[in-house]
Amino acid sequence: MTQKYKLLTPGPLTTTDTVKQKMLEDRCTWDSDYKQLTQDIRHRLLKVAEVSEGNYTAVLQQGSGSFVVESVLQTVLGKDDHVLIISNGAYGNRMIDMAKAIGKRVTEMRIPYNTVPDFEKVEALIKQDQSLTHIAMVHCETTTGILNPLEPLSEIGKRHNVSLIIDAMSSFGGIPMNVEKLNIDYLISSANKCIQGVPGFGFVVAKQSKLEQTKGNANSIALDLFEQWKVMDRDGKWRFTSPTHVVAAFQEALIELEEEGGVATRYQRYSENNHYIIESLKKMNFQAYIDAEHQSPIITTFLYPDKDFDFEDFYQYMKEAGFVLYPGKLMDTPSFRVGNIGDLHHKDFVLLADNIQKYMKERN
Ligand SMILES: *Cc1c(COP(=O)(O)O)cnc(C)c1O
Repeated sequence: MTQKYKLLTPGPLTTTDTVKQKMLEDRCTWDSDYKQLTQDIRHRLLKVAEVSEGNYTAVLQQGSGSFVVESVLQTVLGKDDHVLIISNGAYGNRMIDMAKAIGKRVTEMRIPYNTVPDFEKVEALIKQDQSLTHIAMVHCETTTGILNPLEPLSEIGKRHNVSLIIDAMSSFGGIPMNVEKLNIDYLISSANKCIQGVPGFGFVVAKQSKLEQTKGNANSIALDLFEQWKVMDRDGKWRFTSPTHVVAAFQEALIELEEEGGVATRYQRYSENNHYIIESLKKMNFQAYIDAEHQSPIITTFLYPDKDFDFEDFYQYMKEAGFVLYPGKLMDTPSFRVGNIGDLHHKDFVLLADNIQKYMKERN
């Protein structure tokens, strides 16, 4: 299979041929082979999350990542619950919008996109308002590429017995995290990010004792995570039609993650490539928007090098060279993004940097 171009995007991303090949077979949703495949995926996800079976469970849910975030907010937040949602980007904002749209009680904490939360303030809020039962935060804000630290939030959750909902959509599988030690109750991610599968479903790694208490909370049938779990947990049968091709590809992606050496090795590859691209672009006058200290190894926002920089022109040039870049998402500053997750390797980034260099020379 020849790819027209490599995707330097945060998902859908460049997948291996072997992952794509798994989609050439049609599978039957109620056949035991397929149900076993689902169970195997659920088992592997717990390993990636470094949690123990019994304490945690994995639930798969049809749709893009946002569907899964909404299903968690629907199901986890009961009528007496109150969630603090911390946001420094579009995905945090989306969680706030969702929680409000579905009528949950929410307190929002919006901070500038280039800063991580002040956890003393978060703790003060929790102390001040005893009605707060949950905190939701995005781990890697894909909007900018900033990485919000999990440890301080984890400590707050433990100290005040507050449940944690983490959108780790663009980091899970690419950044090592011990979900059990961090005491995260609900960790959300999807098939088409760091596990390097194709889009079509997402999943939740949930603390089982917490999920068990959520029956009847959801004002939705399709997005009721509790019911989804109950059915899936019997024998691996999905409640409604599942994206069979995507599921099979995802199992292959999980096997390939393990073959690569697991999350630690993948993290190293992502980090090295991320540093390489930031350093190379810096030499060409592109500044990263996020400080090195808070920059994730997943995706980087770059500011335009000068006011004459024409992203559309640059984009087309790079596309012809075999690379698809990602537009920026900052409100006030012209920017673009370079994702470095997916089946991309050092040589790809050398070629990318060479082509950007060529573009900058030809442009002048
Ligand atoms: C990709 C992503 C999502 C989900 O977006 P979809 O377009 O619904 O797949 C949610 N949060 C973060 C941080 C993401 O990167």
